[in-house]
Amino acid sequence: MVYRSICNVLRADKMRLLAVFAFVCCCCGVRGQPIQTFVIPHSHMDVGWVYTIQESMHAYAANVYTSVTEELSKVKERRFIAVEQEFFRLWWDTVASDRHKKLVRQLIKEGRLEFIIGGQVMHDEAVTDLEDEILQLTEGHGFLYETFGVRPQFSWHVDPFGASATTPVLFALAGFNTHLISRIDYDLKDGMQNSKKLQFVWRGSPSLKAQQEIFTHTMDQFSYCTPSQLPFSNSSGFYWNGVALFPDPPRDGVYPNMSLPVTKETVHPYAKTMVENIKQRAAWFRTNHVLWPWGCDKQFYNSSVQFSNMDPLMKYINQNSKEFGVTVQYATLSEYFQSVHRSNLTWDVRGGEDFLPYSTEPYQAWTGFYASRNVLKGVARRASSRLHAAETLFTQYRISFPDGPVPKDWALEKLRSLRWAVSEVQHHDGITGTESPQVADMYVQHLTQAMMGVEELLAALFLLPHNLAISGSLSSSSFEKGSDQADQVPGSALEQHIIVYNPLAWNITAVINVTVALPNAAVYDDDGQPVPAQIQTSAQSNGSYDLFVVVELAGLGHRKYLIDFSEKPCSTKPKCSHAYEAKGVWFERLSMKDRAKTGRRLLPVLNDCYKLMFDQDTNLLHSVTSLTDKRRVKVTQDFWEYHANGDVKAGPISDNYIFSANGSAERAYEAVEMEIIPGKIVTEIRQYFYREDADKDHAYSITTRVPERVGSGLPCHRLEQAYSLGPLHLNTEVVLRTSTALRNNRTLYSDDNGYQMMKRAYKEFANNTLARNYFPMVRAAHIEDDLSRLLLLSDRAHGVSSQANGQLEVMLHRRLWNNLTWNLGYNLTLNDSSVVRPTLWMVLGSRNATSRLYQREAIELQHRPVVMPIDQPRRPLTEKEPGSSSAAPPVVLPPSLHLLSLSIPGWNYSSSHEVHLGHINSGQDLQPEPDYDRVLLRLMHIYEEGEDPELSKPVTLNLKEVLQGLGEVRALEERSLTGTWDVSSLQRWEWKTADKLQKNFQQCRGSEGKDFTVTVSPKEIRTFFLRFGSRNF
Ligand SMILES: [Zn+2]
Repeated sequence: MVYRSICNVLRADKMRLLAVFAFVCCCCGVRGQPIQTFVIPHSHMDVGWVYTIQESMHAYAANVYTSVTEELSKVKERRFIAVEQEFFRLWWDTVASDRHKKLVRQLIKEGRLEFIIGGQVMHDEAVTDLEDEILQLTEGHGFLYETFGVRPQFSWHVDPFGASATTPVLFALAGFNTHLISRIDYDLKDGMQNSKKLQFVWRGSPSLKAQQEIFTHTMDQFSYCTPSQLPFSNSSGFYWNGVALFPDPPRDGVYPNMSLPVTKETVHPYAKTMVENIKQRAAWFRTNHVLWPWGCDKQFYNSSVQFSNMDPLMKYINQNSKEFGVTVQYATLSEYFQSVHRSNLTWDVRGGEDFLPYSTEPYQAWTGFYASRNVLKGVARRASSRLHAAETLFTQYRISFPDGPVPKDWALEKLRSLRWAVSEVQHHDGITGTESPQVADMYVQHLTQAMMGVEELLAALFLLPHNLAISGSLSSSSFEKGSDQADQVPGSALEQHIIVYNPLAWNITAVINVTVALPNAAVYDDDGQPVPAQIQTSAQSNGSYDLFVVVELAGLGHRKYLIDFSEKPCSTKPKCSHAYEAKGVWFERLSMKDRAKTGRRLLPVLNDCYKLMFDQDTNLLHSVTSLTDKRRVKVTQDFWEYHANGDVKAGPISDNYIFSANGSAERAYEAVEMEIIPGKIVTEIRQYFYREDADKDHAYSITTRVPERVGSGLPCHRLEQAYSLGPLHLNTEVVLRTSTALRNNRTLYSDDNGYQMMKRAYKEFANNTLARNYFPMVRAAHIEDDLSRLLLLSDRAHGVSSQANGQLEVMLHRRLWNNLTWNLGYNLTLNDSSVVRPTLWMVLGSRNATSRLYQREAIELQHRPVVMPIDQPRRPLTEKEPGSSSAAPPVVLPPSLHLLSLSIPGWNYSSSHEVHLGHINSGQDLQPEPDYDRVLLRLMHIYEEGEDPELSKPVTLNLKEVLQGLGEVRALEERSLTGTWDVSSLQRWEWKTADKLQKNFQQCRGSEGKDFTVTVSPKEIRTFFLRFGSRNF
């Protein structure tokens, strides 16, 4: 009570704030002192879930910021935290008046409006890729820093469904002081509450260890919503502004379900309820401070009503604090954590384990969403990969041609649209597939539109006519074209030119697949030399052909190729340049019923790495022999279905979120047909699975591509598999089951966000064991025994499990309907009738061999070469154009380093924080022109410490030398992950742990780069701003 009023007087002054906390904290943890409660007003605003972003803005989100700004400015004690940046930015750009903007700046300065996380969204943690998580955080942080000079330092991951070990690492790298999570397994949370272990220091990366540790707070069982039960009333709790109304806010400002107002009569029961809750929660924490989130989903849109009830209630509690044993104060998240930090306790350490999967209660395993809306998951990853390609190309163009003909503001606008769309879908009800169908459509539409804009940019960068871009590789219909991103070539001209771009900073040899209309072709490179190619009828569409071309591309380089359709098969020519015409051999449909003996008639398919045996008694894969380690492993692959219950009265149901298998999986087919197309570039094995013997159409298919040896460099270990599934029968969840002889004891490994592999040992539970042994797979999963490892790499997220020894099953698709009132009300039943075509790369080999290659393979799958059809070049192919790859040395990083980002963000702020703040405070020119000369570069070491004797070593490189293909590096500064901190000035709070008792600020290193030399250690991600001089030709 006493110190609260002191706090309020001084809080506006940042320097003196610390002194106040020193004073406050002298009382922490002292027996008999009142519990200090930090009431944090907030509104959880899903960036898409049941309603689209536009609907949400209209119904409540804009009102949150308008009314909160008004209300905070009226009473100086009031506080609010702003979380999802997409809504805030939409409000700032399209709704806020000049007066509101001025008020916001003042509230930020006073520390009363605090930006938390600062990303565009509160990203999902299970099915998102590291590259996209960083993007969405960077997108929000860039805006906040440029506009307000603000750098968020606290996380608030209150709603993602489980917690990944990658997130704490990224937040540490972004300069955060604390992390906050909430949704973790229910029985785990119970145990942590009872033993007061909800707070700990998390070392999310086993390689980076304490270097990127972060203090983590787990919310207690009440999570982020104010308790909604009031023992003295039928009203819904502490929400006086009621429930948001869609589509329009009520004209009279009176919302349904508003709580009883706080009056003389009600204030005591309200206070009693609140105090009891505070005391209950205080018992679960080690310090005397309680974090009391005040709000919930879609709250504070009518915040005058909300605050005018909160004010007197809190005043009443403080007036009676002796009796209640509790004080309450409005607070931001930083104020709460500063108090906890000042308590100076020693905290437990948590290593690199994550909190996945997540169950809320028995038979409520949130493991279904790993596979919900496969199409959306695929489009999101395609868009992300296309964005990376466009960013790296535009950066190269800007450095080479600062005065080039492509308008830079137009180009940046295209890139920003796609950055925004890719960021948005990372929301925890976005890429998860847990949204309503109309919101899923909204994400796809935003992604598609922005990708088409970027296609126009790519066309312009290659000095091509604009209209060609539309018919190119990214027409919206081509999203689900299958494994190889088969790129359609338009028209029936007898000659077609294509450009192929490699967005990776490694030299690569790869096979591209171009869908063409004619059955004969020859392919030539830009030197006029014939290129190995193969043509055959398409696996995906009738009447078209797959043209496979082997491309060799330098790091960040592109090449032009000519496809000549006029060439006929060359029986007479001495040197044949014609694409090899591959013809298929059919194997008759075999019924499971007739299956007597198997394994008698095996058909081998060989390349330099493997001998694959296909069983002619079943038309299934029988075994794979890895030729390098001379080990044969029995491997069979087929499809199985879980049949979900859709009637809540009959037992647990499956829905968007939840997987609750109604028994074991059943075989999904009665007969299998096979076609083998032996080739010189790839040999294709097409397996068609029929639900019934006599069915005309197959239900599922696998197309396996075995690379044949063509020159050196084409990886022979990569077995590409493209699947086709759907439309599914209702209440079906389909898995691809790979059954092997590996003795893995039902233990599997799957990745957290493509950043690190997690060991997933099979666990028995009292209930729901099957569903609780499902895990997310973003890029990779594998099973292994002492000798061998079977690895699957993925182009999008799925769910994975090992339900039996030697088995690895991947849930690829789900279609569900149920009669749960809540699901029906929100249209969240997942009646997804689409056909999906995901791709996996399968690798079998020794543990050592696969340890060396899986990280890079996963990145190569994500960032496959970009194929663009182009018009006839204006000059002969052999004549080099400016900007063509051979005009400059390629950009090639050492094999352990991945070029995570190379972009021109466009932010315009001084590298010096003081100078930038001075500029903002001067009030002048607050909408700066984009800075087109600042290049953002991120490098990531892709290996774990000790993973490989050579590749796990720290890598030292001279950036001036490595990047000379881009231009002359003139200036280099190291920044925090999202660019907002100069790392040499970044001081994160240090927390005492048993193994590290010395308490001081954690100093990030920096100041490297005077001679442009940097060292990157295992799993490090380092971010730089670069400036280049122009390249001379
Ligand atoms: Zn949410």
